[in-house]
Amino acid sequence: ILETRALNKWFGGLHVTGGVDFALQRGEIHCLIGPNGAGKSTLFRLILGEHLPTTGQILYEGNDITKAKSFERIRRGISVKFQVPGIFKALSVRQNLQIALQHHCPPAELDGEIDRLLEFLKLTEARHQLAGNLSHGQKQWLEIGMAVGLKPRLLLLDEPTAGMTPDETAATGEMVQALNRDGVTVLAVEHDMAFVRQIAHKVTVLHFGKIFAQGTINEIVADERVAAIYLGDATHA
Ligand code: ATP
Ligand code: MG
Repeated sequence: ILETRALNKWFGGLHVTGGVDFALQRGEIHCLIGPNGAGKSTLFRLILGEHLPTTGQILYEGNDITKAKSFERIRRGISVKFQVPGIFKALSVRQNLQIALQHHCPPAELDGEIDRLLEFLKLTEARHQLAGNLSHGQKQWLEIGMAVGLKPRLLLLDEPTAGMTPDETAATGEMVQALNRDGVTVLAVEHDMAFVRQIAHKVTVLHFGKIFAQGTINEIVADERVAAIYLGDATHA
């Protein structure tokens, strides 16, 4: 569904993604791991079009989207939950979802769609709370919901379980798996190896902006080269 070819991004003198050739198959749940500063979030911004690559190409569903605007990519079914929160803290949970969904859903279906999404996100009871007052985990769910509400075919999640309790993390894994069963391809940056083990069909390790290793979770945790540069939260692995 997505392919990057020789993707390079320089920020001034800093080379962030060093010729990344990455392929994401339709229907897979793919986890991206790697040390801080490896370029994971930068790769997401390149895929969404918030940064343009210095050189290289991005293909989505066979089309070259390297120069496409972000809104054009979203319209074609790419949706992202970024690492930095993008919720409106002074609005209610429901109002946040309303804002995210209003241009992606016929007005007559909006209320029903939001109710379904609230249920899916386990936020029905919290729907009238201000987003700023939610727990860490609930905020993440709301963020995920705002990305899911755009009905993506490709969903990118940057650290979806950050700040979550183990129970919330496991519930998030089930949400991701349910979306995937409905046909959504998922690329998730994740540090929690238990979560990666729960959901990933395939894992890519990014290191200094390059693909360092790729395989199943078992292959990755058994790889001594990977252990030498990155253990993630290996206590759970
Ligand atoms: P983390 O695990 O900490 O989230 P990451 O793998 O997501 O790390 P990135 O955020 O992609 O890493 O950053 C990779 C490198 O690019 C870092 O050295 C960062 O400082 C740099 N960088 C990211 N965005 C910019 C920018 N807009 N301008 C300059 N440098 C940037
Ligand atoms: Mg990051």
